[in-house]
Amino acid sequence: MYHQILHDTKKRGIEVGDVKLNLAQMMKAKDESVNGLTKGIEFLFKKNKVDYIKGTGAFASEHEVLVNLVEGGQTSVRGKNIIIATGSETTPFPGLEIDEEKVVTSTGAIALKEVPKRMVVIGGGIIGLEMVGDSKLYSQRLANQCYRLQYGRD
Ligand SMILES: Cc1cc2nc3c(=O)[nH]c(=O)nc-3n(C[C@H](O)[C@H](O)[C@H](O)COP(=O)(O)OP(=O)(O)OC[C@H]3O[C@@H](n4cnc5c(N)ncnc54)[C@H](O)[C@@H]3O)c2cc1C
Repeated sequence: MYHQILHDTKKRGIEVGDVKLNLAQMMKAKDESVNGLTKGIEFLFKKNKVDYIKGTGAFASEHEVLVNLVEGGQTSVRGKNIIIATGSETTPFPGLEIDEEKVVTSTGAIALKEVPKRMVVIGGGIIGLEMVGDSKLYSQRLANQCYRLQYGRD
């Protein structure tokens, strides 16, 4: 929307004055969306009488998961069948230490405290392309200074 107001709406007959990016407010809105969505899942758990155990799980045996609880302590959960749905992690990159400040994954990239002057995006998959698209949203200057590296050609 921001990019559209800056570069597109004027020629369509909509003139808007003094459009500025407020990154802190943008991050706040993003955090509120994430919180709203995750709280929504907690509500559905409660409504459908699903136990929600907050912690880090590891298999103790084929039918038992040991959980290090967020609030401290441990518990274990047994099940005949267990579904593993632990998502995915960014592939580590040899020689690059991810600090989520300067070298970031997509998680750090959507929590930046300021718009970087230049940006290199490693990987040309969906997320990489999305990050390049986001750079345009932040500023045309950054979009011009955004480089995408990818292996071979897709
Ligand atoms: C930047 C970005 C943008 C995206 N945009 C879109 C989009 O627009 N549309 C779309 O459809 N998809 C999008 N995706 C993809 C989407 O987020 C994932 O496909 C989806 O979240 C995968 O769901 P999941 O349940 O498999 O894993 P996740 O959502 O990753 O959930 C896994 C959960 O398991 C937890 N976990 C991991 N290990 C353990 C453990 N040992 N013990 C306990 N818990 C553990 C994690 O903390 C996490 O909460 C995007 C992804 C990224 C990174």
